[in-house]
Amino acid sequence: MDWRTKLLNPAPQARRDYNSLNTPVYRGSTVVFKDAASVNDHWNQAENGYSYGLYGTPTALELASRIAGLEDAHFSFIVPGGQAAIALVYFAYCTTGSHALVPYSAYGPNKEMAEGLMKGLGVEVEPYDPLIGAGISALIRDNTTLIWTESPGSVTMDVQDIPAIVEAAHARGVAVALDNTYAAGVLFDAFAHKVDVSIQALTKYVGGHSDILLGSVSVRDQAGFEAMGPVYRQLGLAVSPDDCSLALRGLQTLGLRLAHLEGATLEVANWLVDQDLIAEVYHPALPGCPGHEIWKRDFTGSASVFSFMFKDTVSAAQAMVFLDALRIFQIGLSWGGVTSLAVVYPDLDRPGKDFGGRLVRLNIGLEHPADLIEDLHQAMKAAL
Ligand SMILES: *Cc1c(COP(=O)(O)O)cnc(C)c1O
Repeated sequence: MDWRTKLLNPAPQARRDYNSLNTPVYRGSTVVFKDAASVNDHWNQAENGYSYGLYGTPTALELASRIAGLEDAHFSFIVPGGQAAIALVYFAYCTTGSHALVPYSAYGPNKEMAEGLMKGLGVEVEPYDPLIGAGISALIRDNTTLIWTESPGSVTMDVQDIPAIVEAAHARGVAVALDNTYAAGVLFDAFAHKVDVSIQALTKYVGGHSDILLGSVSVRDQAGFEAMGPVYRQLGLAVSPDDCSLALRGLQTLGLRLAHLEGATLEVANWLVDQDLIAEVYHPALPGCPGHEIWKRDFTGSASVFSFMFKDTVSAAQAMVFLDALRIFQIGLSWGGVTSLAVVYPDLDRPGKDFGGRLVRLNIGLEHPADLIEDLHQAMKAAL
């Protein structure tokens, strides 16, 4: 063989039975079939064998099976991010003429997709009060195909009565999807509470270090699997095996991180409750949080993200100055990593409630909580 041919002929030389403790990073679009008759292009590689990298490398499928195992799901799809997971669910359950329901407190880009792509395709997505509970019955129509839930909700942290919503939905044959990112798929048992689909932004707690973007869509049963698979293929939701490898590493420390973050976050939140300038602290484990009693009933723990609101003696401009005065907290979106973050939501929009630009969301990281409290304290003194 010419050396140029040798360069391209990847016949492996090293033994392939290296039994690493960790899942290798399998990079690859093409997989090689053993003979012509074995060629297939099916997305369901678990049944049909490996066909193409788009439907999951062994690294991605290992992550998928770990997530499915943790959530007690029938199957999990790994997708490029939490928002891709939301898109997959919309497209799997809604078509022109469908009606869907989404809570006011849902992740912003979920509502954006409702008002944007979905509306354009003739899908009506109606916002509802996250605290509606069994009252959701009255909003279900003959053409309702999907009810979104997210608990606690983004930014305002409203805890939803998932069992009541599921019961009402299933009585009318409607699927319930839960954005279970806050619970990392473990602090709230989605499938024991009978939701049909549980999604996560693995970007947050599973990744855990603010350095990857990934999502998961976990389904309760074979029907969900079959509804999701073809859409997953058509949308081409490929993921990087390197990112999946980092998510697999993240899983190894998820238990420790969540345990630490719960305590540290409660320490900071409880300190805030006692401050004169603070009107409300929205943390699901504290009584001021809408739905706190439901959180106590349904969750096995709390996580690192929560919000607080300054009293109306503090202006929106002062809230911004406060943010700029923080030294340890960084100003940034997203959460679930090792760094404490703060962000103000000047235009937060909830029917019948005016937050006046005075609501701050915090993510607590792995810094010492005493230093974080001191940082909040000095920034309040400097700014307010
Ligand atoms: C961050 C987030 C998402 C989106 O995740 P990405 O990976 O950033 O696309 C979806 N839902 C919730 C509740 C989130 O916090």
